[in-house]
Amino acid sequence: MPAQLLDGNAVAQKLLAATREKFAGLNRPPRLVAIRANDDAGSRWYAQAQAQHCAANNLEYTLDELGATATREQILAAIIRHNQDETVSAILLHLPLPPRSDYLELVAAIDPRKDAEGVHPVNLGKLLAIGKNDAAVVPCTAASAVQLAQEAGAWAGKKAVVVGRSAIVGKPATLLLLGLNATVTVAHSYSDVGGECRAADLIIAATGASGAAWNRYRAKFTQWQNGGGEKPLPPDLSPLIKKEMVKEGATVIDVGVNQIPRALDANGEPVKNAKGKPEMLYVGDVDFDAVKEIAGYITPPQGGVGPLTNAFLIRNTVAAAYRRVES
Ligand code: NAP
Repeated sequence: MPAQLLDGNAVAQKLLAATREKFAGLNRPPRLVAIRANDDAGSRWYAQAQAQHCAANNLEYTLDELGATATREQILAAIIRHNQDETVSAILLHLPLPPRSDYLELVAAIDPRKDAEGVHPVNLGKLLAIGKNDAAVVPCTAASAVQLAQEAGAWAGKKAVVVGRSAIVGKPATLLLLGLNATVTVAHSYSDVGGECRAADLIIAATGASGAAWNRYRAKFTQWQNGGGEKPLPPDLSPLIKKEMVKEGATVIDVGVNQIPRALDANGEPVKNAKGKPEMLYVGDVDFDAVKEIAGYITPPQGGVGPLTNAFLIRNTVAAAYRRVES
């Protein structure tokens, strides 16, 4: 029987309703400030989406555009200005950052009480110590992935694998699952991913592996076109998590977002559309069509982790505004 879909939009609506109820009575709308020091298309798209989500939930949103040439000092000055601004409830920093800007240094400069994404070392430390997302500001994507897993069932004593060990997704998801008393394995690029996943009742895939493989290939291909190195062989862009890696009835949460070409032509370049532009697709880390035939629960390619991640950003911002009123 095909897997049941875990509907991120529906869970997001529940979280937003609970947020409105819990934090009713603020005397002014919470205000989220996003600092952007790049001209990256993905970041621009993300900022537009943040603005829409804030507007839809009666939050103020300010995009502080510093430009791709901003210095470390200018970014730090912006953070300090927003830390001191009483009208700012929460702050986030868009990636990528300009060269010579240290992400860890910059997020550590954000007032931890205004940390919208739960990435400040103090908040990550609280998560390490407490392991629950009601007692700390938790990174939104990790919170979303684990919340969706909880929609599928309880995880105490069950085997979970988190594939990916980044500080903003894989590691916090691991800590949240430990907080739910799961037995957690963390897999990464040195792991036997298939072997670990086959034994798991729950798989959270957060790698971006095929997008990364495409980016590495494209860099080498461009280098070769410019006369450097050998022509690279076309990469394997198939999803990392395949049907044969999944135990029957397992729950599979796909966090990955990979931008890859629909296909490569005979020269190893993306096939183009009628307008002559490369045909690119957004895909996850999981081979959804095949895996849904064996999994018990699975996130859909659209409307899974993403919408709930946005809802957690709203929740974190509203909670930050509430803390300021209380303190
Ligand atoms: P990241 O910082 O690049 O980390 C990727 C992790 O995946 C690393 O730990 C890496 O292992 C591991 N990995 C890469 N290729 C692998 C492979 N072939 N086998 C096993 N492990 C592999 O990425 P991130 O920021 O955590 O994001 C992960 C994915 O989630 C990306 O696709 C990103 O776009 C997506 N994302 C989605 C949302 C959302 O709301 N839906 C939000 C944030 C991120 P090593 O540590 O060994 O290098």
